[in-house]
Amino acid sequence: MPFQLLQVDHSQNNLHCPYCKNTVIDSTAEEYIQPCAHTLFVAMDLSFEYVSDTFEASLGRSVDDIHAHDDQLNIFQEISQSNYPEFVIYQMDLGIHELSRYIGFSAQAVA
Ligand SMILES: [Zn+2]
Repeated sequence: MPFQLLQVDHSQNNLHCPYCKNTVIDSTAEEYIQPCAHTLFVAMDLSFEYVSDTFEASLGRSVDDIHAHDDQLNIFQEISQSNYPEFVIYQMDLGIHELSRYIGFSAQAVA
């Protein structure tokens, strides 16, 4: 697999980009997702919340198409089929129903 999966403690409310240190997830802000140039995607188990064009192009199908099949959706499985060369995924436990949020970063700026 081309990615590294890192677990993040969910008691931590904010997530910073490992490359530019921008606050990408700020749970105290109204716009709690603030993608930086390295952010490939932000997703939960059942849907994408943000996806960069570059990452969407690396998936087998479009995000609209993926969401259209949400009765059998497994976002992590979709992400793991990406052919994006190298990225890091932070997995945050949401603390409810064993759901997670996944945030993907690329060392190369994508936006
Ligand atoms: Zn960044």
